[in-house]
Amino acid sequence: MNIKELDKKYVLPTYARADVEFVSGDNARLVDSEGKKYIDFASGIAVVSVGHANKRVNNAICKQLSNLTHTSNLYYIAPQARVAKKIVEASGYDMKCFFANSGAEANEGAIKIARKFGERDGEIKRYKVITLQHSFHGRTITTVKATGQEKMHNYFGPYPDGFVYADNIEHVASLVDDHTCAVMLELVQGEGGVEPLDKVAVQKLAKFLKSKSVLLMIDEVQTGVYRTGKFLASNYYEIEPDVVTLAKGLGGGVPIGVVMTTLKELFSAGDHGSTFGGNFLSTTAACEVMDILSEMDENRELQKGIDYFDSELEKFYAAHKDIFTSKVGIGMMCGLRVRDADTLNKIVSNAREEGAIVLKAGRDTLRLLPALTITKEEVDEGFESLNRAVSSL
Ligand SMILES: *Cc1c(COP(=O)(O)O)cnc(C)c1O
Repeated sequence: MNIKELDKKYVLPTYARADVEFVSGDNARLVDSEGKKYIDFASGIAVVSVGHANKRVNNAICKQLSNLTHTSNLYYIAPQARVAKKIVEASGYDMKCFFANSGAEANEGAIKIARKFGERDGEIKRYKVITLQHSFHGRTITTVKATGQEKMHNYFGPYPDGFVYADNIEHVASLVDDHTCAVMLELVQGEGGVEPLDKVAVQKLAKFLKSKSVLLMIDEVQTGVYRTGKFLASNYYEIEPDVVTLAKGLGGGVPIGVVMTTLKELFSAGDHGSTFGGNFLSTTAACEVMDILSEMDENRELQKGIDYFDSELEKFYAAHKDIFTSKVGIGMMCGLRVRDADTLNKIVSNAREEGAIVLKAGRDTLRLLPALTITKEEVDEGFESLNRAVSSL
């Protein structure tokens, strides 16, 4: 049986897979099983932040795995402690970290923090968490309910109580009541359509929540780890959240999630845990990713790469205003709104034909999440493919 047949026979059909099997990669380049070459503007959905087959990450992992892969959180784990320091220092916030294995799991941790905070703080139990319409917070039963998309709340109920959805950022404050313990937001909605929130509105809300002693929890699973040009989108928005979650770009492809908070004494031993979370493999990878990206940030390479990608995207957008209605996003988290959903689907499949891997977000957004290490040549080749893809519409 070939791979496609094996997958069909033995893997549950939860994904609408494209008909392609990649076999190797190098930075923003991919090769499929037929030897066809691609430029990857998707990075495995913002995960492969430092490119495919990154030598520094691979060397660090191999060296670590020749000693230890896993011992459990019953004992100290050196790279976990080291990467926690790197993450906290890069954030600029006075926080501590908990290590999980995915974005949804990091958000579960955030929700547990909010609920314990609500339990302790004040007379009545506060348990409500406000999230936004069109948000995406994960696929576990709780994070699917935290996700403000009605179409995702099928089949799996009863769900945990206490999630409230605001139509937009301006609407959040009016939903805060005596039972509200937290607000959870993506500053740039990813799956919802590369939708940055208004900075002034976010700052105003942050101030209001502080005055009400309601936690501000920022889901940076997609926006975090320099995706927007700063370590956190929260840094870009110049706010001081109480809780931040990270995952996608942090491990360079190795599964890892983090929930970090200013509430350093809230959890005590036994309140939360994970068998795999923060083991030698994932935190060694994350240490190296943090080193690579903080060096690129310091020597301005990161900003130069973002500026170049943005200028080429602008040219592409300007050349195809009959197809695209606006350009959206921040840093290397960007997109183009497409005139209709059908055209968007065609662009994604044409692009693959022409050798560029791109993503959809929401109904009408072409989403681009290239590796933060993408080279000029790779950017140029990718846009050449994209130009061919839209010309053949
Ligand atoms: C991808 C994503 C998640 C879920 O992460 P998983 O690792 O798939 O569990 C949660 N929040 C945001 C904003 C995301 O982009």
